[in-house]
Amino acid sequence: MKRFRRHFSETGGDLISSTDPATMSRERKVLGGGGVKIVRVIGICILGCLIILPLLFTISLLFQDHPPPTKQWVSDVNEEERITSLRKDDDEEEGFWKNNFGGKQGKAGGKRRFHGHTQEEEKTVPEDGLSMEAQKSEDRLLGGLLAANFDEGTCLSRYQSSSYRKLSPHKPSSYLIGKIRKYEALYKQCGPDTESYNEAITQLKRGQQIRSSSCKYLVWISYSGLGNRIVTLAATFLYALLTDRVLLIDRGTDMGDLFCEPFPEKSWLLPLDFPLNQFDNFHVKSPERYGLMLRDEIINENGTSSGSFPAFVYLHLAHDYDKGDKLFFCDREQLILDGIPWLLLRSDNYFVPSLFLVPKFSEELEKLFPEKVTVFHHLGRYLFHPSNTVWGLITRFYRAYLANAEERVGIQIRTFDTGVGPFQHVLDQILACALNEKLLPAVSRDKPIIPPQQTGKTDRKPKVVLMTSLSGGYYERIRNMYWEYPTVTGEVISIYQPSHEEHQQTEKQFHNMKAWAEMYLLSLSDTLITSPWSTFGYVAQGLGGLRPWIMVKPVNHTTPNPACGRAISMEPCFHAPPFYDCKAKRGIDTGKLVPHVRHCEDMSWGLKLVGEN
Ligand code: GDP
Repeated sequence: MKRFRRHFSETGGDLISSTDPATMSRERKVLGGGGVKIVRVIGICILGCLIILPLLFTISLLFQDHPPPTKQWVSDVNEEERITSLRKDDDEEEGFWKNNFGGKQGKAGGKRRFHGHTQEEEKTVPEDGLSMEAQKSEDRLLGGLLAANFDEGTCLSRYQSSSYRKLSPHKPSSYLIGKIRKYEALYKQCGPDTESYNEAITQLKRGQQIRSSSCKYLVWISYSGLGNRIVTLAATFLYALLTDRVLLIDRGTDMGDLFCEPFPEKSWLLPLDFPLNQFDNFHVKSPERYGLMLRDEIINENGTSSGSFPAFVYLHLAHDYDKGDKLFFCDREQLILDGIPWLLLRSDNYFVPSLFLVPKFSEELEKLFPEKVTVFHHLGRYLFHPSNTVWGLITRFYRAYLANAEERVGIQIRTFDTGVGPFQHVLDQILACALNEKLLPAVSRDKPIIPPQQTGKTDRKPKVVLMTSLSGGYYERIRNMYWEYPTVTGEVISIYQPSHEEHQQTEKQFHNMKAWAEMYLLSLSDTLITSPWSTFGYVAQGLGGLRPWIMVKPVNHTTPNPACGRAISMEPCFHAPPFYDCKAKRGIDTGKLVPHVRHCEDMSWGLKLVGEN
């Protein structure tokens, strides 16, 4: 503006003076003088033009300092074209998400949508060292299993986990996805802080049945080690899905710190003011135990002896349950349970295989899981998202030790002998399994150590072994072996173990966070060796979609031969199944009734889901 003013006064001073009122009146007087005056006027006009034209030219030059309007418009058009093309890409991506993952890319995917198509981001190297391919093929919603509308920050693992895992070859059925979406809607309608919930609580306090029986509830009682809790909770959720019950979990000492909320908008944590929160009162001898009520005929098909169902019953499905409790797996008893608004359930077992043998559920289960061996795989991935603190433990360890591996081998060591070890027979067994199954290379104890440069394999990434155990001894011995001697293949083997807690400390919070992080890290392995009878290992194999090599249970502190065998499926084993034919009312081998429920590899009396072929 300053420049314009100066230029204007320099060249157009006369023009300014012509607008001066005094000058104008003087000129008016002069023009009043006839023909001479006319000639004068014409002269003045010509002179004026001569002055004004250069002035206008100068001004136009001055305006050229700013971008000409046409140029500005062209740039707008380009911008509009660019935005339109981005929108088109977005639509295609939206379509891609819908076609491939059955849902809309939601809030979590928003970041990617806004920036995902710029070349800039294409060039960005992911900070955790994952390949671009892995990033591209990431399946944030786990094949449509997860709802898209969660706040990402409250649970980083929910949408980030796909960046750490290989894409699962097991797709959830559209029937399962539909069922889960309906369940989430039911949860919003009946979950804590809803009118239905408040009414159900009032009735429970009065010991009455809910009048409008639209909402029914299932309370899971926190019990046993973390692996047991996780497999049990998955089984309980499946039962809740099958019976349209709102699942609420007893937070115990740490459930709220270990996991994110799995259902949108409503918390699955049982509200603290729940009237029956003295869960220690519910055990194998409780009078509210369903098995006992059946035995004493307090409850029968027609309701209780007084003709109405109780407001709640306690389902004792733990390892020490009795004949009466086992009737839970019968059709008739399931019909009775249908009429009871509140069920409290305690278990330390993955009772899913026996649900497949209940006629009332079998058809629905077939539709939900056409691939039967994927029950824990899908339900576990849907339910169990590590809390942000645990996710920190997982991702820091992964990035520090596992991300750069050519191959990841997980070894989970759990012994049920007295003392934590290390035991020589277990160490021998681990090595026998890993070497015989060619999961790890043997070492050459007499060959001279050749520096890696001479082998020509310097560029190969190491094979990384992730070991988990309460003892640090196995890790030290195996790590030393691969340090002191070269492998016969020339491969470099890196061995890591996140913790060695020495003792199980179920009630200690950080102890369980580490246990959960380790189960999760094991699930990121390419191949896995697990210990028999251990739910810790089951969780890892199920989440990872891995069929592990299970070590054979040693007898008399002797290394078994063979040391391990390949699991027939990735499903957990139900350690204490019923052997009862509900119709014939007699004992039966429930591992021989249908092709997809068989005895487990690691526990001959256990049951597990297997592939039908
Ligand atoms: P299970 O007893 O093998 O079926 O597995 P659980 O997880 O139910 O119980 C074992 C508990 O011991 C775990 O929850 C941990 O608290 C602890 N534990 C056992 N093995 C390990 C391990 O390798 N790492 C860690 N951090 N804890 C372990």
